[in-house]
Amino acid sequence: MGRSNVGKSSLFNAVCGRKGLARVSRSPGRTQFLNTFRLVLLGPGRERRHLRCVDLPGYGFAAAGRATRETFAPMIGGYLKGRASLRSLVLLVDIRRGLSDLDEQMLGFAAERGVPSLLVATKVDKMGAAERALARERLAVGTGVRPIDVLLTSSTKGLGVGELVADLAGLAAPPRPAADV
Ligand code: GDP
Repeated sequence: MGRSNVGKSSLFNAVCGRKGLARVSRSPGRTQFLNTFRLVLLGPGRERRHLRCVDLPGYGFAAAGRATRETFAPMIGGYLKGRASLRSLVLLVDIRRGLSDLDEQMLGFAAERGVPSLLVATKVDKMGAAERALARERLAVGTGVRPIDVLLTSSTKGLGVGELVADLAGLAAPPRPAADV
C-alpha cells in the first residue's frame, strides 16, 4: 500500500517481471479497488512458495474526490485491523516525498496488531547517492526502523527489485513446525 502515484503498480509489475499486470495509472488515484494476486515465489532452495498479495487502493490524492477519499482510510484501516491472516504490511513511500500522516497511521494500525511492516522507498533513481542516503535516514527515523531496513527501489532502473522479491519469499515461508515438547 501507499499513497496514490507512489509507483505501486510499476513496482508490482517489476516484481512479477511482467508489464501491465497491475495497471500503471495514466492519472493518479485510479486504482480504487482491492486487487488480489497469488504469487508463486522461489525460496533460497528454489522451492515454490505461495503468497497472496493484496493491492490496496492508493490514498491521499485530492482529485479522487472527497467522498471517495474519506472512504479510503477507514476501509484500508479496517482491512489492516481485521484481516486475521495478514503476514505483513508492505508500505511504499516515494523517497522524495517522505511519510504522510496516513502512512504513519497505517503503520500504527499494523504495529497495534503486531503485524510487521516492510518499508519500501520508491523512485530512488530520482535522487543522487548522497541525497538518497539522507532521505533513507529520515524515513528510518520517522518509522523507528534501522536505515538498512528501508528498502531502496526503482522500477525504472530495476533497483532493489530482487531484494523485494527475496523479502516477499521470506514472508511466504511456511510456518515453523511446533516444537516437539
Ligand atoms: P501508483 O499510482 O502508485 O500505482 O503508481 P504508478 O506505478 O502508476 O506510477 C506513478 C508514476 O510514477 C508513473 O508516471 C510512473 O511512470 C512513475 N514511476 C513509477 N515508478 C517509478 C520509478 O521507479 N522511477 C521513476 N522515475 N518514476 C516512476
